[in-house]
Amino acid sequence: MKGISVSPGVVVGAAYCIHEIFVNPETRKLEPNEVLPELQRYENARKSTANDLQAMRQKVAAQVGQQEAAIFQTHQSILRDPAFTAKIRHYIVEQRLTSAAALERVLADYSLLFTKTKDDYLRQRLDDVRDVIIRLSSYLSEVLRPVEHAEHGPLIIVADELLPSHVVTLGNREVAGIVTQSGGQTSHAAILARSRGIPAVAGVRNILKQVKNGDTLVIDGREGDILINPDPETEKAYRKLEREFFHLKDHLAENRDAVAITADGVLLDLLANINNPADAAAATAMGASGVGLYRTEYLFLSHHDVPDEEEQYATYKKVIAASPQRRVTIRTLDLGGDKTTPYLGSKKEANPFMGWRSIRLSFEHPEFFAAQLRAILRAAAGKGVRVQIMFPMITTLEEVRKVRSLLLKAQRKLHDEGKPYEPVPLGIMIEVPAAAVCIDNLLEVVDFVSIGSNDLVQYLMAADRDNPRVSHLCQPLSPAVLRVLQGIIAVCNQANKPVTLCGEMAGAPRAFLLLLGMGLRSFSMSPAFIPTIKELAAKVTIEQARESLLHALRLKTTSAVQKHMGDFVASIAPDLKLLDTG
Ligand code: PEP
Ligand code: MG
Repeated sequence: MKGISVSPGVVVGAAYCIHEIFVNPETRKLEPNEVLPELQRYENARKSTANDLQAMRQKVAAQVGQQEAAIFQTHQSILRDPAFTAKIRHYIVEQRLTSAAALERVLADYSLLFTKTKDDYLRQRLDDVRDVIIRLSSYLSEVLRPVEHAEHGPLIIVADELLPSHVVTLGNREVAGIVTQSGGQTSHAAILARSRGIPAVAGVRNILKQVKNGDTLVIDGREGDILINPDPETEKAYRKLEREFFHLKDHLAENRDAVAITADGVLLDLLANINNPADAAAATAMGASGVGLYRTEYLFLSHHDVPDEEEQYATYKKVIAASPQRRVTIRTLDLGGDKTTPYLGSKKEANPFMGWRSIRLSFEHPEFFAAQLRAILRAAAGKGVRVQIMFPMITTLEEVRKVRSLLLKAQRKLHDEGKPYEPVPLGIMIEVPAAAVCIDNLLEVVDFVSIGSNDLVQYLMAADRDNPRVSHLCQPLSPAVLRVLQGIIAVCNQANKPVTLCGEMAGAPRAFLLLLGMGLRSFSMSPAFIPTIKELAAKVTIEQARESLLHALRLKTTSAVQKHMGDFVASIAPDLKLLDTG
């Protein structure tokens, strides 16, 4: 099967299907003597789920508001609904289904019922029923309890959509590869996979129908190929490639102490994108010169409530201590889009990427925003610490003025309270086309900029970064994107404003060479890509990169640019081809 490669590399492992319960429901019939114990199992799961919901409801109510907590109340009433319970009991007792299968059947019944109704309110309740059923299932289904499977070698997660919160809760379990039915190259789950160096392919339609737990899967992250239960010869060949992939990674990691420099001696800044203290350590291990993007939202995603100032401060301190040269650009909360939490009032929106996300959300939670600014300013104090603050999704000049004044206010308050802090350079992300177009105005009031190409590309091409159906449009190497990027970099260089690019393309060999040709000298990427990019940089001169860019700018289609740059990478660094994704 084929999908979109979102993280390079080759891996062979055993499939572990996260949502198999809803695709391949259990069909086993219970023996008569199993019925009572099964009812008891269901009852235990119901109690555990009820406890979860009660705890979440209280936390959200206390820390966010009653309105936001109401969703859990709805879930509680579904769970308590006698008709709901009666249906499940009916399937277990009368039809001798396991409780997991009974839940699946009940969900199907409700789906049928709700799709017939014209009432929007009722239709929305189906999402709530599904949520409750998934939560219940997590206590009942073997499929959702992978610990036992983990003993049998590396796991390849197969899911419809891998949500960042899934990855967060997968914790330290050894995941060797990820395949999803939906999602695209720059979805946040894909970014997580890359930051852990896990080969991943997204957009593989219907794979959950073809794969069962324990099947042997091959992920070939170069072109996005998936093989299911390959014949022994093929499997052997891929295991060989897998070993080469690991060797190449090990070999490249040896350049960690080398400086990043082009073949003609131009120094580059290769920074890391990180999500947590463990990533900061990985950035150091991979030889980054600092952290160019610390996405603070992962601290929030792994919580059931808003972490307070002290907790944020402690985490930022940890990240700074683990980062290369204690140099970190901390980005304020960038929730929304595909990253939602049950608190801070995130709601389903028709156009989440264009809606109430990121800085827009922070502005409407002044208390929380002030706490984050204070935690960052305080964490910036200390010998040898170099922290910068960066604001995401900036669209207008007014927003920049507003963040500057909020930052000053936070500083004044800390000063009055006698708390140690350090003023920090203020930067913005250029990821909304409006900001890219008016960049000259914005540059006057900021200390640095960082191009968020993941979002910039999706907004420019009007193609959702997570939707595989439009992934052919959401392409960083499209002629339109190249022109815009060239413009931003030129304006920044002329104005002598430090500019970095921290989208995923910074770590992709073909895009990296184009950006180098445009005059970019600072790149921030998943730590896993740093060794590859360092090796590639050492093999190219600025003149070669510029020539290649000039040729690319004359090409009129993405595929022509891809082909041209693919050939260029192959000609200067043939040994890196296992790591060159399209
Ligand atoms: C981007 O948009 O390019 C970026 C780096 O931010 P994120 O991927 O977190 O949206
Ligand atoms: Mg972004």
